[in-house]
Amino acid sequence: MKKAPVKNTAFRKLGLDAGATTQQIRQAFRVLAKKYHPDRNNHTSQSAEKFKDLSIAYREAMTAHKEMTRQKLEKNAAAAGFSFSGLFRPGADKCFHPLATHGKKVEADVPLTFEEAIRGVSVELKIQALMPCPKCFGQGSEKPDDFFGCPKCQGSGSILEGDGSFLSRAVCPKCLGEGRVLKKCGGCGGEGRSEGEKRFMAHIPAGVDDGNTITIPGEGHAGAMGGRPGDLHINVRVGESKMFLRKGNDIFHETQAPFTMAVFGGKIVVPTLDGDVLVTIPPGLRANTLLRLNGRGVNGKGSQFLRLALEVPTQLTAKEKKILEDFARTKGYPIPEQPSLGGWDRLGRLFRRG
Ligand SMILES: [Zn+2]
Ligand SMILES: [Zn+2]
Repeated sequence: MKKAPVKNTAFRKLGLDAGATTQQIRQAFRVLAKKYHPDRNNHTSQSAEKFKDLSIAYREAMTAHKEMTRQKLEKNAAAAGFSFSGLFRPGADKCFHPLATHGKKVEADVPLTFEEAIRGVSVELKIQALMPCPKCFGQGSEKPDDFFGCPKCQGSGSILEGDGSFLSRAVCPKCLGEGRVLKKCGGCGGEGRSEGEKRFMAHIPAGVDDGNTITIPGEGHAGAMGGRPGDLHINVRVGESKMFLRKGNDIFHETQAPFTMAVFGGKIVVPTLDGDVLVTIPPGLRANTLLRLNGRGVNGKGSQFLRLALEVPTQLTAKEKKILEDFARTKGYPIPEQPSLGGWDRLGRLFRRG
């Protein structure tokens, strides 16, 4: 009996022995669910967790019980010459209730700033979703013992199947051979779930990128008839930064520097994701070179690439202009003789020289 511990834990959480009947399981869950349902506890995260834990225990205990019943029924059906086919619909939450289905996924778009995506953030989401009915706590009936005779099999627990020429007796799919069914809940029509709003604290991990989807298991729509809930898909939308451009785990940044720094090198303060750092610029830096700052990317992975936007002086004093012209001349660089730069007197000099 390898499975026994798991099963026993579920029963124990409900304060029951492993041999409890469905009625006892329903009753025990109902008492605890009343106490911990988020609707009755101001939607605190503890109550949500506790209720989720109880719901799982309830499902596991019911599953364990139904599985035992199913095996017993199958055995009895086989002994009596019954067929057991068609009892469970494909895609249904087989082990629980014949009409139980998995809940569908819920999608939520979460806009984040550039910095929030880099560092991670907790966001409280308000989600419109099908939730376990607060009247029956997802059980589909308001009282655990409000049975009436099964209308499909008239209480016999079995039905005739076939096309007239070949009839066989099968276990009734509505009551699972019990001959009776529970009265449907007035709050949810027996589905065990109803439309509502739930709050969920989503912990977005550091380093998520625009377009990423985070899947939170079990936080989607509630399943019908106590079936497993669907997942919550959080679609992350990340805003832009004025300072940084991101590609995967790499960060690109452009910083202003005087054009002489490209020649002589030097030290410059550069913003990074972890704050300002002093970067040494090597002398003789070619235009448009990307300097790599290792380990300065997202989450310590990747790098920051730095490009210097070289500032060229536009307002020069006569002395500064002369220094630059002298430099250009020694290098043999052309010096355009523009009136705006040199003035009319220089133009005059040029003519006189000729
Ligand atoms: Zn209900
Ligand atoms: Zn029936």
